[in-house]
Order: sequence, then C-alpha cells, then structure tokens
Amino acid sequence: AEEEQAGEEYLFKIVLIGDSAVGKSNLLSRFARNEFDHNSKATIGVEFQTQVVDIDGKEVKAQIWDTAGQERFRAVTSAYYRGAVGALVVYDISRRTTFESVKRWLDELSSEFVIVTFIDVIHFNSIFMVHCDTAMARMLVGNKCDLENIRDVSVDEGKSFAEEEGLFFMETSALESTNVQTAFEMVIRDIYNNIS
Ligand code: GDP
Ligand code: MG
Repeated sequence: AEEEQAGEEYLFKIVLIGDSAVGKSNLLSRFARNEFDHNSKATIGVEFQTQVVDIDGKEVKAQIWDTAGQERFRAVTSAYYRGAVGALVVYDISRRTTFESVKRWLDELSSEFVIVTFIDVIHFNSIFMVHCDTAMARMLVGNKCDLENIRDVSVDEGKSFAEEEGLFFMETSALESTNVQTAFEMVIRDIYNNIS
C-alpha cells in the first residue's frame, strides 16, 4: 500500500494493458524517462513507475504499472488491476490482431474493476472511495504510428471503436515521441477532474 507523503495530494494507479509487443513498456519509458529501447525484452516482475505531473498547479502522482510479459500467456492477474483508476489499452497500428484483442482487454478490465473497487472501498483511503461510483479513465492507444507504410488499422477504425466504447483515443509513437506525454496526461487529468 502507498502512503501519502506531506505535500502530495493525489496518487493515481494507472495500468497499461494490451497484447505483447505493442509497445507498452516503451510508452512508459518514453513517458517516465524519455527513453526508447529498440530491443526491449519483457521486464522481470511486475513493475511500476511513479511520475509526478502538474495538473492546474496541483502535484499529481501517477503510479503507472507495466506488465512483466505475462500478457503473452493471457495471465494478467487481479493484483495488477487492483486499485487502478485509469488504464491505457494499447494496440499496434501495424498489427490488426492486436486491435482485435482490445475488446477482450476491455472486458477483463471491467470485470476486474467491479471487484477491486468494492475491495478498495473497504480497505483504502478517501481517494479510492471517491472513485467507487465514477467510471475508470480509459484511453485507447494506437501505438507505432510512425509505421505508416505498413499500417493495418486506420485512424478512423480506432476512433470509431473508441467512441462506441466510450474511451479516449490517441495514436502514439513511443519511437518518435509522438503524443506519448499527451496520452498519459489526458488520462491523469480525467481522473483528476472526476474527483475535484
Ligand atoms: P510490450 O510488450 O507491449 O511492452 O512492447 P515493447 O515496449 O517491449 O515493444 C515491443 C517492440 O516494439 C520493441 O522492439 C520496440 O522497440 C518496438 N516499439 C515499441 N514502440 C514502438 C513505436 O512507437 N514504433 C516502432 N516502430 N516500434 C516500437
Ligand atoms: Mg513490456
């Protein structure tokens, strides 16, 4: 469990989900450290990075969780989702199968969210209690938009699917650093707006 420290008003847990190799880890390293890894391998153990973001002059801490490669075996556990108030659901615009998987990720997210929200209300602090009756901030992310020449999912398809499902939508490139900051910040801002 995370303790709030003096001067830090908010801590938001945000999860990255989506098929293997869509670029989740690189989106996080680009956002948190402005780094990109061409040969990234699955991280060992579940990892998260905490990033401080300024929203309207308020210091907001985003604890962003990345999978340890267990998505390859469809074995992302409830612990991963527990307490999350935001999610980036990532696909690769050059691999259609990863876009087709998004529905399954959303289903998993919503079934876990119902359970974890209930548990959080019992165990955690007021931040989570505020969230028990609000929707999770979710963004659909079409990553690798630098691969325009081998695009397999159109922008319009991504956009309309996101609209149908009530998600924010953005195409990103962790490689070229396109929209990465914006995508994370939109999710963080939406959570913040929901509680303030
Ligand atoms: P994860 O399994 O979803 O965490 O994906 P990774 O972040 O490990 O990335 C998988 C592969 O895709 C790696 O070889 C990355 O270098 C590559 N990759 C990640 N993001 C991008 C991107 O925006 N553009 C391109 N062209 N390649 C990317
Ligand atoms: Mg990864």
